[in-house]
Amino acid sequence: MRLPEIVIDLEKIRANVRAISALTDPLGIEVVGVTKGVLGDVRIAEAYLAGGIKSFADSRWENLQRLRQAFPYVSLILLRIPGLSQIKRVIQWADISLNSDLEVLQALSEEAIRHNKQHKVIIMVDLGDLREGVWPRDLPEFTKKASVFSGIQIIGLGANFACYGGLIPTVEKLNQLVELADTMEGILGYSLAVVSGGNSANLRLILNQTIPRRINQLRLGEGILQGTESIQRQRLPGTVPDAFILRAEIIECYEKPTVPLGETGQDAFGRLPKFTDEGWRKRGILALGRQDVPLEGLILRDQRLKIFGASSDHLIVDLTEAGEITVGSIVDFNLSYGGLLGAMTSPYVEKRYV
Ligand SMILES: *Cc1c(COP(=O)(O)O)cnc(C)c1O
Repeated sequence: MRLPEIVIDLEKIRANVRAISALTDPLGIEVVGVTKGVLGDVRIAEAYLAGGIKSFADSRWENLQRLRQAFPYVSLILLRIPGLSQIKRVIQWADISLNSDLEVLQALSEEAIRHNKQHKVIIMVDLGDLREGVWPRDLPEFTKKASVFSGIQIIGLGANFACYGGLIPTVEKLNQLVELADTMEGILGYSLAVVSGGNSANLRLILNQTIPRRINQLRLGEGILQGTESIQRQRLPGTVPDAFILRAEIIECYEKPTVPLGETGQDAFGRLPKFTDEGWRKRGILALGRQDVPLEGLILRDQRLKIFGASSDHLIVDLTEAGEITVGSIVDFNLSYGGLLGAMTSPYVEKRYV
């Protein structure tokens, strides 16, 4: 056994996909399986497929490359708008990309023509989250100009929420997206195959069934992997929270005070740590640190334990209430979405599939 390890329960992931499909299918919404939280993991992508998902999306072309090699015929979407330096790889590894820049679209078009391809694009519009997207006022002009690039095919309009600005997707915002799609269709002279309404933040509108009917695609990562919508982190019916469990080993266990002895300054990360004096406690050191997972993403499964803090390679926990835990014991954690992303992308964390 290599520790720390992340135990990945593929059946639980399949079950989460099925539970979400049960919510989205009746509304005519296609779920695109987002893999960026798991480093484009092929086994997890297989579980997506087994659960009924038909296309994958990732923010990194490196992950799309891995998925393409494993799944030659599954449709792959690049989530992060591509840069001019990435054009060749986008055309090579993605079937569809999300885009918001005319210069990039022109370059994609030229590269696609060079390879006798037609690259599909979904235009992103910014409805106020203030990350990527064309400003709604500029969309008609943008569409007119983009429509002349013959190497690309505009197949849809999309928006993203709750990523930078924490903007909540509402019925009003999505109705605006639908209206903008209508306007684009008027300019293009054909109907858009895809109106991509957003990410796991939109699942609230699925739960209360208020999502506008024209929205026919959501790009979901957290919803599938964690089983939660991402505005209030409400559990979705039929999903489980523990498809992923992180496990690490206790390497020291002593009774020590809770406040450092003597004058204190900055910690290893330039922060001034604060301490509350809880007297002497049984303190365990885990062979787990910020190089493996962000501390904030860890959720102890054993309620008797408490996290004191962590440095790059050591996590210190309060074991006072857990008499039997000592050096050699293994401690289990659930992970937040950020914690999952950290653990899955750390080269130090062993992946074990069950
Ligand atoms: C990350 C991302 C998603 C998926 O977000 P989740 O919250 O994991 O569902 C969808 N669309 C874009 C553009 C993204 O960057």
